[in-house]
Amino acid sequence: MARILAKALNCSRGPTVSPCQVCQSCLEITSGSATDVYEIDGASSNRVNQVRELRDDLKYLPINSRYKIYIIDEAHMLTPEAFNALLKIIEEPPSHVIFIFATTEWRDLPATILSRCQRHDFRRINAVGLMAHMKYVCNKEQIGIDKQSLSLIAREAEGSIRDALGLLEHVLSFSQSQVSLADVSEFLGLIDTRFLFDMSAAILARDVHTALELIHEIWRAGFEIQRFYSDLLVYFHQLVLVKLGTEPIRKIDLSKLEIEQMKLLVGEIDVLHLIQIADFLLQAEFSIKSTPQTKFNLEMIVIKLLKIAPAMPLEFLIEKLKRS
Ligand SMILES: [Zn+2]
Repeated sequence: MARILAKALNCSRGPTVSPCQVCQSCLEITSGSATDVYEIDGASSNRVNQVRELRDDLKYLPINSRYKIYIIDEAHMLTPEAFNALLKIIEEPPSHVIFIFATTEWRDLPATILSRCQRHDFRRINAVGLMAHMKYVCNKEQIGIDKQSLSLIAREAEGSIRDALGLLEHVLSFSQSQVSLADVSEFLGLIDTRFLFDMSAAILARDVHTALELIHEIWRAGFEIQRFYSDLLVYFHQLVLVKLGTEPIRKIDLSKLEIEQMKLLVGEIDVLHLIQIADFLLQAEFSIKSTPQTKFNLEMIVIKLLKIAPAMPLEFLIEKLKRS
C-alpha cells in the first residue's frame, strides 16, 4: 500500500489516484529500484544515528521524481530517541519530502508523531473478497483449488489478505498444481466438524462417558486440544443462533446438512440452557489457554459442565407453580 501511495504521488502524470504504471517512476517503484523511494525497516534501523543520517539526506532534492518518499515499515519499532530525532524533521519537513509510516501498532507511536500524520486504517476484508482474490491468484498461477478449500483459508486468515496469501503459499508448497480439501484441512489442523457435533450431542445428553471418549479420540488423532476447544465454543455459539432461528455466522464451515442436523440437535433444548453452556465454556477458556495439561483440563471442564443443572425456562416454572 505504501508503494502504491508512493506511485500515486510520484507518477509523472500525477499526483493521481490512478498511477499510469508505465512512466519511469511507476516502473521503478514496481521493480523496487526507485531512486527517490526509500524503504526503511523500523525494526532494524531504529537507532538515533540512523535517523540523523537520514536527516542529512533530506537536504538533497529528489533525483528524478516529484518527492523523496521514505517508507518506514514496522514504524512502532523505532526507539523513543529515534522518534525524537524524526519529530524535528516532521515538524518542518522540506516540501519535497514525504514520510509514510507503516505499522500494525499505531498506538505505540508517540502522540506528537501521530498528530502530524494523516492516518489511514485498513479494515478487514470479508471472506468473499478474500476468496475472490485467492481464486484470481490461483488462476494466474494455474493452480486448481476448490471453493471449500478457499473458504477454509479465508476463514483462517480472519480478514487479512496478507495472511490469506501466506497460508495459500504454505498449502501450495506441498500440494503443487492441485490443492485438495484434505491438504488444506490437514495443514490448518482443522477439526472435523463431526467431532464438534458429537461432542455437543454428548454434552447436551449429559453423557460423560461418550464425551470423555471423544476427547481421547481427538487427542489421539493429534488435534490440538486448544484449537478444538475454541472451535467447540464457536460451535455452541452457532447452536444458540440455530435455536433462535438465525443463520449461523460462517465462522465454522457448515454445510446445509450440518445446519439441519444442528437444528434437530437443539430442537428440544431450551435456549437458556444452550446459552448457559456457551457461557460456561467461555468462562473456562482461560484455563485451557493457560495450562499445558490441556487434555486433562478439557476433561475436567466437561465433567464440571455436565454437573450443571439445565436452566429452567420461566414458563415451565410458572406452569409448575400453577399446578402445585
Ligand atoms: Zn506513472
